[in-house]
Amino acid sequence: MSVTALIGLGGNLGDVRARLATAIDALGRVPGVSVGARSRFYRTPPWGNVDQPDFVNAAVAIDTTMGPHDLLDVLLATERDFGRVRDGERWGPRTLDLDLLAYGDRTIDDERLTVPHPRIAERAFVLLPLADIAPTLTLPGIGRVDALLGRIDAAGCVLLG
Ligand code: ATP
Ligand code: MG
Ligand code: MG
Repeated sequence: MSVTALIGLGGNLGDVRARLATAIDALGRVPGVSVGARSRFYRTPPWGNVDQPDFVNAAVAIDTTMGPHDLLDVLLATERDFGRVRDGERWGPRTLDLDLLAYGDRTIDDERLTVPHPRIAERAFVLLPLADIAPTLTLPGIGRVDALLGRIDAAGCVLLG
């Protein structure tokens, strides 16, 4: 049984666009993971802590036989492989952030994992790339991707050619 999961990618240190593309390839080599649709890349203003460089963001769909917590472990290990250092600062600069946006139509809320990702509706940097690959998807408890995007201010986010 495989499930379609959606992963949000971002970063703001170094050559992020190249790193995101390489990280997507690395995810595709994980046993039990195959990469499907890929969004375009967007340059986006920092969120939460605004005193840091702009981000590059993207999203990908994967088909996976992994459970959601094992998939989270893969995402966190991949972040480390690509130079992510956790210094305790929330929403600070990072080489790579891989968030599990959705896992099929499951809702999960435990000490390690909240799915769908709880801050999607507030984030143009998530919704813009997500709308490239899943515009009509309804995120359980949150809403439909295209409708959510219509309700927020995406000014300041730039499609990278
Ligand atoms: P945000 O979650 O607001 O985007 P962040 O991505 O910077 O912030 P991280 O430091 O990457 O946060 O993650 C901290 C912890 O969040 C992870 O160790 C993980 O256990 C937890 N977490 C909960 N739900 C999710 C999810 N859907 N995707 C990724 N991590 C999650
Ligand atoms: Mg994040
Ligand atoms: Mg994260």
